[in-house]
Amino acid sequence: MIRTHYSTQITPEMDGSSVTICGWAHEIRDLGGITFLIVRDREGLAQVTLFKKTIDKNVLDIVRGLSRESVVAVTGQVKKEAKAPNGYELVPMSVTVLGKAESPLPMDTTGKVDADLDTRLDVRFMDMRRPGTKAIFRIRHLVLKSVREFLDREGFIEIITPKIVATATEGGTALFPMTYFEREAFLNQSPQLFKQLMMSGGFDRVFEIGPIFRAEEHDTRKHLNEAISIDTEASFLDHEDVMVILENLIVYVYSNVAERGTEYLKTLGMELKIPDLPFKRITYDEAVDIVRDSGEQIEWGDDLTTESEHTIGKTIGEHYFIVDWPTKIKPFYALPYENKPEICRAFDLMHPRMELSSGAQRVHSYELLRSRIEEQGLYADGFDFYLKAFRYGMPPHSGWGLGLERLIMTMLGIENIREVVLFPRDRRRLSP
Ligand code: ATP
Ligand code: MG
Repeated sequence: MIRTHYSTQITPEMDGSSVTICGWAHEIRDLGGITFLIVRDREGLAQVTLFKKTIDKNVLDIVRGLSRESVVAVTGQVKKEAKAPNGYELVPMSVTVLGKAESPLPMDTTGKVDADLDTRLDVRFMDMRRPGTKAIFRIRHLVLKSVREFLDREGFIEIITPKIVATATEGGTALFPMTYFEREAFLNQSPQLFKQLMMSGGFDRVFEIGPIFRAEEHDTRKHLNEAISIDTEASFLDHEDVMVILENLIVYVYSNVAERGTEYLKTLGMELKIPDLPFKRITYDEAVDIVRDSGEQIEWGDDLTTESEHTIGKTIGEHYFIVDWPTKIKPFYALPYENKPEICRAFDLMHPRMELSSGAQRVHSYELLRSRIEEQGLYADGFDFYLKAFRYGMPPHSGWGLGLERLIMTMLGIENIREVVLFPRDRRRLSP
């Protein structure tokens, strides 16, 4: 390896020592007697200073001939310099061009010129060089790491289930069909059925972080056609138990990002407010009342529109759960209350701006599940591989699915979900 340090690992106290950094030619400023090359690596910026009087002529020529955004390796001596980034500059012994950049560049990376999101996504590799974009994906990494940490500590086992499947999970959402040799198959819309099989298998608590595919035609700022879902399923717990796990997870993730992601939050110019526990719980009926009070029309049994979600979100003003949903608008696997089967043990976790997660205690009786599937107009025989697991000892169980992108966009106050996905898939975008 040629690199000895990231730009931020070098300190003024290292004055006099020799180091090698690798990165992109962020800026070249030629002032005649003195030339500055600012090198940008993953972690930050380093100033390379060339004094015309003392510098090797070959090194100066290389730097003067450099095109912006070319990749270079710079070996030089550290010199304490209060005015430079991180309090030091490098006086180079050698500068090597490792990857030349053509000009003009397809987009500006300094943040001085605003590019629209479409342009940025077309050349995402360039967009990633911007500090703001990099900060989002560093935070995304922290979020994923925190989720794994938290669920592992809570006794959840990480699983990965198939994404190529023979049947729809729950009807409703449109699927992407694909050719599977001589048969038709689909991209999975949710790991729901598989994680429930794990409960019959005795794994007790499982989680999966993986893609879900939804052939939704709409083009909104909160829907993707390929999203990442954080899914859990746990035996011998009811819906209320898993709501507690979910709210604790959210707070754990926020706290971790606030603690370990300070630098990235600063780059994004934001301060993270950690939500208070426990989150408010309101019933579906109470949600309907809030919507009606605002003058909007809603019938009992209607799903909440985006507008209704905003109205309730404004009223509550922080994270909250909506519980006790009408059975008919929740999937067949949500468990109806025994004494009031028109509502079920399902919940949605809401951020004031949008839904983050849906969950429920599940039906675990074979007979009830079969009739629920049929009641929802689905063909029960198509679910044979799933239903079988309920006939040979299925424990009561509950779980939820949490959208990773929605968690991040609401946490960071980002308007468009595409900002928090490297290469988003939507109605119009399939490349890169
Ligand atoms: P919505 O009504 O907001 O479209 P949903 O109720 O259809 O969402 P669920 O099937 O309940 O979504 O999925 C669980 C979670 O997965 C959602 O709360 C959301 O965070 C995330 N999710 C679902 N579909 C998408 C999508 N198309 N794009 C991004 N995230 C999604
Ligand atoms: Mg939902």
